[in-house]
Amino acid sequence: MITCDKCQGGQDLHHAMVRNNHTLLSEMHKCSCGNSFTYYQGILNDYCSDHFASEYSFISDIVEFGNCDIIVGESLTISFKKDVPLINKILLTPCEGIFYVEPSIYRDSKSFKVISSEITENLNFYKDSIVKQGQKAKVFWFVYGKTKEIKLEPWRHLLIYSKEQKIAKNYLLSFLCSAIALESFINTKIAENLSNTGLNQASIEIFLKESTMPDKIFNLSKALLGIKFPLGMVTAKKIQDIIIKRNKIAHGKITDIDSETAKDTFKIVITYIFENHVINKNVA
Ligand SMILES: [Zn+2]
Repeated sequence: MITCDKCQGGQDLHHAMVRNNHTLLSEMHKCSCGNSFTYYQGILNDYCSDHFASEYSFISDIVEFGNCDIIVGESLTISFKKDVPLINKILLTPCEGIFYVEPSIYRDSKSFKVISSEITENLNFYKDSIVKQGQKAKVFWFVYGKTKEIKLEPWRHLLIYSKEQKIAKNYLLSFLCSAIALESFINTKIAENLSNTGLNQASIEIFLKESTMPDKIFNLSKALLGIKFPLGMVTAKKIQDIIIKRNKIAHGKITDIDSETAKDTFKIVITYIFENHVINKNVA
């Protein structure tokens, strides 16, 4: 997906590129609101978006959807095409008419139930659209899920945890996961680089243990990996602030992080990683 940072409009990346006859992610995309951004930036905007579809896509590696015919008041079991070990979210939307509809989740990973009922409130408008108990109706369903043992680099897991905590409004944990994802990414890249020079694992571990995070981020990353600031919107100052806050939390001086700080930190960290890992292939 790509998302516009001005109007928050989202589009399927593949469709947008085919439609505009573009082949490179570095090419400019023109949004219908008039805003222009590269496809790379559009992907990054989507990772950072507050839109629920963007958020749940980020933390899910399974997406299933479809239509089903129900009878209002009766439950219907929907079977997944393949197992969904962890369900992040099920969205149910009545296709036509007005009635209550809710999912009921089993622990079998194979299915869920659609529960429906006639609405009981007195509506002033749309009275004719009410679907009565026992009548047929159509429901669109969408499931976001996660494989239990997904094999990813630790920093990717940490970014997913950060987003999960942000969705759950646990901003302090979201912040910490982002900050540790940054540290994990840098440690991984420095270790890879040192390993390529022939240094043994024991020495690499001593090297990583004995150098401070500011040393790694500002000096070693530059010397070994060629990472220089600013990187997109990421300045050295913004990274410094994250390290300082992270240490204050570790030392018990801060016990609260607000939603904006958690969100900004996620954006700074993912931009830093994206710029290095995806765009700057020398480092990847
Ligand atoms: Zn736009």
